[in-house]
Amino acid sequence: MPAADPYVPGHGNRRFGVRSYALELDYKITTNHLSGRATLAIEAVEPLTQVALDLYGLKVAKVRVDGRPARFTHRERRLRIGLPSPVPAGALVRVEVDYAGKPRPMPSVFGPVGWEELTEGVLVAAQPCGAPSWFPCNDRPDDKSSYSFAVTVTDGYRVVANGVLAGRDRRSGRTTWRYEQAEPMAPYLAVLHVGKYVSSAAGPVELVHPRAVEVGKNTAFERQAEMLTTFTELFGPYPFDHYSAVITADDLEIPLEAQTLSTFGANHAVAGWSNERLVAHELAHQWFGNSLTAARWADIWLHEGFACYSEWLWSDASGGRSCHELAAEHHRRLAGLPQDLLLGDPGREKMFDDRVYKRGALTLHALRALLGGRFFEMLRDWTSANRWGVVTTAGFVAHAQRYTDGDVAGLIDTWVYARPLPPMPASAAV
Ligand SMILES: [Zn+2]
Repeated sequence: MPAADPYVPGHGNRRFGVRSYALELDYKITTNHLSGRATLAIEAVEPLTQVALDLYGLKVAKVRVDGRPARFTHRERRLRIGLPSPVPAGALVRVEVDYAGKPRPMPSVFGPVGWEELTEGVLVAAQPCGAPSWFPCNDRPDDKSSYSFAVTVTDGYRVVANGVLAGRDRRSGRTTWRYEQAEPMAPYLAVLHVGKYVSSAAGPVELVHPRAVEVGKNTAFERQAEMLTTFTELFGPYPFDHYSAVITADDLEIPLEAQTLSTFGANHAVAGWSNERLVAHELAHQWFGNSLTAARWADIWLHEGFACYSEWLWSDASGGRSCHELAAEHHRRLAGLPQDLLLGDPGREKMFDDRVYKRGALTLHALRALLGGRFFEMLRDWTSANRWGVVTTAGFVAHAQRYTDGDVAGLIDTWVYARPLPPMPASAAV
């Protein structure tokens, strides 16, 4: 079967799309045992006699299609379900999968991704292909769906998933936490956090953290609400109803965005630019990556370049070093590194190479120099025209071209589709 996305072979299927996921899960922390039911509303893109979902390391007990028991095989990472009768293109089927086991991270060329046990609790860090480590899915970034979560854990632990907390039911020492993610979401952005957390609000954003980890004044999170205001002015309205930063008790190597929330380690709370920039970076992903998701991983610069540029914009807006100064510094650094990376198709091994981030940000700085005063108008229109959708570099070029008589395609060709580093853009101050 051809790969749905060449960067993550073996994942995803283009013969159907998932319109909604409902995950009802029961989790035992002490034994890392997960059991539950996933209900997927699947829409056929072409006539189907079977559907193949991605699911890793968990055992499937039963599958039903439109309420009737269905045959299935589960080998390696593929759950193949025979449909009792052929499904025509455009029709919907409801697939229920009962499954259980001890979830573990999924091995990949990017290292282990997905489900991760903490000292006391769990997180999911699924980018780009770890979603099958905890639920059956169509694991491609451009198949976005609504989600609902009902996750039951022992009292005393807090569960965080995407979207808004819709309710909590307590029964015999266990609590079911219900979350609704109404806006479409890519599977890799679905997350689950379980931990001994408290929740504190800081303006419009929520901070979820162990009581012992300080996240208020004099921490990297102190100005997160201001960042939200700044980015709303620059990029347009915040695309979701809610935003949380979840800070784990454990230290983590890197933070990671998910839809409506981001994950940080306790180490990232320490005040200072090196962490504050990460808080800004992950927040900016709500616009670039989560609301507007690259249709293919080859276009990852549409996430990381934009999020990195947002760090520089925040620095500038918050009285730190100017965006142009940071751009110049990173241009000098890039000039001293090998110029063997193609930003518009870096290859999966280099998908998260730091040069994708920095050169992506510099591409936007160059575009800003070309567009002048209309740059942020262009960005705001980009986020509004493509809200909750999928995007491509070609679409971005066509969009940006409407705001200038200059040659946007030529600029993108030299920055995104050629390897040598173009000269530092002129000052974008306008
Ligand atoms: Zn990022």
